[in-house]
Amino acid sequence: MTICPYCPHHCDIAYGGTGICGMYTAVSDEITERFPDHWLMITQVSVETIPFVHAFPQAKALQVSTIGCNLKCPGCVSEVLVRNPDDMGTGLKIQSAQEIIDEAEKNDCKGIVFCLNEPTVSLPSFLRVARLAKEKGMFVGCSSNGYFSEHTLNLLLPVLDMINIGLKGKDEKYLRACGIINDSVVIQNIKKLVQAGVHVETALMHAKGQENDLITQAKEVVSISEKIPIQIMRCMAFGDLGQEFEPSIPESELLCDQIREYASHVYLFNSPGTAYINTVCPDCGDVLSSREMYGPMGCRPVTFLDNRTCSCGYKVPLTGMASSSRYEEEGMDGGYRPTRALECIQGIVTCLGVDDPLCAPRLWKLYLSHGKISSIHERIQKIPLYYGLIREVAEIVDKKDSGEELLSVLEEMKNRVTDAVKGMPRPRVLYTMGYPIFSLNGGRFENQLVEVAGGEPMNRLIKRSGKPGVNLSHEEFLSLNPDWICISGLFSLPKEECIAYCKNHALLVPAVTENKVVELPPSWDFGSPRWILGLMLLARSFHPKTCTWNMDEIADQFYQRFYHVSYRSVEPTRSFIKASAKISG
Ligand code: SF4
Ligand code: SF4
Repeated sequence: MTICPYCPHHCDIAYGGTGICGMYTAVSDEITERFPDHWLMITQVSVETIPFVHAFPQAKALQVSTIGCNLKCPGCVSEVLVRNPDDMGTGLKIQSAQEIIDEAEKNDCKGIVFCLNEPTVSLPSFLRVARLAKEKGMFVGCSSNGYFSEHTLNLLLPVLDMINIGLKGKDEKYLRACGIINDSVVIQNIKKLVQAGVHVETALMHAKGQENDLITQAKEVVSISEKIPIQIMRCMAFGDLGQEFEPSIPESELLCDQIREYASHVYLFNSPGTAYINTVCPDCGDVLSSREMYGPMGCRPVTFLDNRTCSCGYKVPLTGMASSSRYEEEGMDGGYRPTRALECIQGIVTCLGVDDPLCAPRLWKLYLSHGKISSIHERIQKIPLYYGLIREVAEIVDKKDSGEELLSVLEEMKNRVTDAVKGMPRPRVLYTMGYPIFSLNGGRFENQLVEVAGGEPMNRLIKRSGKPGVNLSHEEFLSLNPDWICISGLFSLPKEECIAYCKNHALLVPAVTENKVVELPPSWDFGSPRWILGLMLLARSFHPKTCTWNMDEIADQFYQRFYHVSYRSVEPTRSFIKASAKISG
């Protein structure tokens, strides 16, 4: 038996066996990696995608990811990647540290960042890349749960420039569920990293009801250093998490206000359109850098203060040089976006009735390590391309007949809508996500749904694009003058809060004055075949005289047929894979 030195679990590993993470084995009294230099993903990203908000602003980096984790947090976005090392490990891309650095140099990347899973479980491979990166003058960063040993810390310190540590709160029950036995380890590691001059940012998940814990934890962070940015990740109802855990954007903003009473830099993520993602001067309140959402757990700067100094004299504690232009990733590449792309695939698999635990890892491996992520992004933006994706997935999982059945139901329901809206006047529709000033990209699937449902997508008049949209100015919003506002079922906002926001910000367009705002149920407009229900709901809203169907009945038929549950029994979830967070009744 050999003790693994890398994390506080210190697994006692038998010869040829594995520890908790499944990523190390023991050979001749030595702990070695089971999958050295095996990478799930190597892709170019902007640092704000990891996300870092105070380090090397706008820099392009090469993101590397492997598989596995030493924890098992409920609701983990990378669950398939971290829980199945045996199924995922073989078939990954093998690339030496030198080849990775060559790729980074060729693409003019300023640094290397390890993200998506936990670097502790692939430490020797990461260190090989990191050491070469330092020799070439690149920065090295990672996101981590911070639950690593002193041994790991000492190996990281000479090469690490920056780290984003995801804190897990203070709830003992939850910490145990994650696998954390001693949570003081993480705080101690943050202290040592800061003392050693490593740039540290922290991410805290805001689930409803956890506010006091977060406030306590943020205080702990501030007591180590006031310079540490605190990123609040608004919890999304993915996986098993029900919507009761999901705070609304205003609720998360309220929490940010409470934390800002003692912390200088607090940022709110997963909240499209919020101003709480901006860098604000803690002394005078001026906006020093405005940002917008750029994918789940990501952001991008829109305006940027070059000299880092506020007009009142306050200096923002930034690490590293800013790049003059910002890098923007392709499609769903980078950061945590690939996990969403792969959920779209699994969303199809669920409706094909596949019940094989090995199916998900097999598909992830196929699409991720063979560079097909970008192609998924294209294929989920247009209905005919989406049909092609269903056919491809059905063939891979050997369910061609089920695939054809799903396709014929989707086509039949779509035709019903097309017939009902033919020749009807088209209302002007703005598709928003989160706050109504966040406009989804015109080319996105949701806007195609609007068009098929007999509406005129106003989003297409905005020529800028983002992930998955852009903030509108007050003037732009008013000039679009929508008759209807649709609120995305992914990053949402309660209808009443949408109307209140518009009224408070003098955004008085017909959609607001006439109360024509539709809040799409979770996953009814993107990511899962349930988009067909969103299409019918939109058509029913825009054209109630000709679209006379009963949405509850239609939804129930669809859920019964493809999820084998009654619509009335489900608890809504933003998961593309599941129909319900859990089944009630
Ligand atoms: S890194 Fe993995 S094998 Fe090593 S102690 Fe931690 S969980 Fe166990
Ligand atoms: S630490 Fe991160 S990657 Fe690991 S299980 Fe928890 S959420 Fe997932």
